[in-house]
Amino acid sequence: MCGIVGYIGKSEAYPIVIKGLRRLEYRGYDSTGVAIIQDGKLQVHKKKGKVAELEEAVLGKNMHSHIAIGHTRWATHGEPSDRNAHPHLSNNGRLAMLHNGIIENYAPIKKELVLKGYTFKSDTDTEVLLNFIQDIQDNNKCDLEEALRIALKRIVGAYCILLIDQDDPETIIAARKGSPLVIGIGKDAHYLASDASPIIEYTKEVVYVNDYEIAIVRKDELILKNLGNEKQTPFIQKLDMELAAIEKGGYEHFMLKEIFEQPDTIYDCLRGRLLHEQLEIVMAGVDNNIEALTKASRIIIVACGTSWHAGLYAEYLIEELCRIPVEVEYASEFRYRNPVIHAGDVIIAISQSGETADTLVALESAKEKGAFIFGIVNAVGSSIARLSNAGAYTHAGPEIGVASTKAFTGQLTVLAMMALKMAKFKASITEERYVHLVNELASVPEKVKEILNNTSVIEKIALKFKDAKDFLYLGRGYNFPIALEGALKLKEITYIHAEGYPAAEMKHGPIALVDETLPVVFVATKDMYYDKVVSNIQEIKARKGQIIAVASVGDLVLPTMSDNIMFVPEIDEVIAPLLSVIPMQLLSYYVGIAKGIDVDKPRNLAKSVTVE
Ligand code: GLU
Repeated sequence: MCGIVGYIGKSEAYPIVIKGLRRLEYRGYDSTGVAIIQDGKLQVHKKKGKVAELEEAVLGKNMHSHIAIGHTRWATHGEPSDRNAHPHLSNNGRLAMLHNGIIENYAPIKKELVLKGYTFKSDTDTEVLLNFIQDIQDNNKCDLEEALRIALKRIVGAYCILLIDQDDPETIIAARKGSPLVIGIGKDAHYLASDASPIIEYTKEVVYVNDYEIAIVRKDELILKNLGNEKQTPFIQKLDMELAAIEKGGYEHFMLKEIFEQPDTIYDCLRGRLLHEQLEIVMAGVDNNIEALTKASRIIIVACGTSWHAGLYAEYLIEELCRIPVEVEYASEFRYRNPVIHAGDVIIAISQSGETADTLVALESAKEKGAFIFGIVNAVGSSIARLSNAGAYTHAGPEIGVASTKAFTGQLTVLAMMALKMAKFKASITEERYVHLVNELASVPEKVKEILNNTSVIEKIALKFKDAKDFLYLGRGYNFPIALEGALKLKEITYIHAEGYPAAEMKHGPIALVDETLPVVFVATKDMYYDKVVSNIQEIKARKGQIIAVASVGDLVLPTMSDNIMFVPEIDEVIAPLLSVIPMQLLSYYVGIAKGIDVDKPRNLAKSVTVE
């Protein structure tokens, strides 16, 4: 997820583009770059870090131009650095391009181009696409638009690109599939951006470009075509939103936006890895180290907070499917207690930011002792990603809300793919079960969408219980980590005390808390523990506790026991946490809002805990 901005018109282009990039920084801030054309020559300025750092770097430079494209990056291919920053230049130096998205088949294309003598200055998939376009244009002796069309038909993946040619300083060419693009229509000017926030102060007339469309944008002309070179009629819409709302994509809070992004982020995490038709899972970090991973004498998972809950899920998952012993450790404890680590141990580190101080230090000492480190992080090129021997990114995009939501489901998705891949390699599950679970995992984005289609029941439950002093969250098996995560989410953004417990264990203490004022949330989807959980619900009911339950669609029993039921589609219990956590996130969100709390920035918390 990156932010892109372009301008062509009679005003100075650079200040408009840089201001727009500042508005899009929520989409990523690994590096910033701008390309302009001055006297028929491309000038590219780029810098690792936030927009302000680029602004400082170009201070005093002549940035005069009426055409500019700019990018704020959230890295997917290649660490955040000056050289991986966009825009990239083609080998012939004539074209500059920036990109939001992932080109999945960049590797074979790159190979082809290297054989032809092309060189690459960055590790990005973007630079490969750009030189592919150059190569097609050189070979076919066609115009740039035609070369782009041919290239786009051959690539697999998602993109929004802006492309400029120093031989044609009057045109920006744009194209999209899967990544957003809005074009603002001004007076003798056009504005291009990932969302309308960089555009709104100049014009309210915009065109949302559709997938598989190419836009040829000039000062006073906007031509839209499909990939078959047929002209399309631009559908001009009027913006009636406030700036702040646009940055949040129309949602009231980043947290809600991120919850609703999950069908896409889970899909992005699966994309190119879970090859559904072939029933295969391709994960370079796992494939290249499959021996080390599957022959591990044990796996130790090191994490903090929400990531620790993902680790606990992985314990159930890897032990069941791969038959490898797993221990889950709090990084802050693990690092100080002088743990026994052998050379054959595999450590899986889980962290959204990849900068969690405790996890980082824990890994450093484990690595010294000879353990193999596998990192699961969201932020590309972060410290944990660099320190790991191998890893897998969650590809959830920048998470701004302090309470983790989409990064957590990204972690669960990576862990599920990883465990399935390892189990298949070890033949520790049957082929039939493997195929079933691959199908179930592939169905998750659609099923999450179904949950998000109707949130009014969850909102009502939230309003009913918003004044409770305490909450108890109970679950068993794969849903136990989700009970813990539900309780943590509630604490974080509502300031209500909550405890997560294994449902059966509550009889050994927490049941003493139960009276008619205590809401007890049961994660009670259909799984092997279901009947036992129903008995646990009876035990709470007998003591007049208020039951709230997450149940599988079609469950006829739980609605007879409580009015407060949040339904999720049926799915295999191994994959169930990816669905059952969604109502937990929403319940906390709605309680937080009802209590008037700033859910994006709850008190005392920080997004990335870089101190121990
Ligand atoms: N794949 C490109 C890169 O890594 C663009 C990243 C993105 O849009 O997130 O630079």
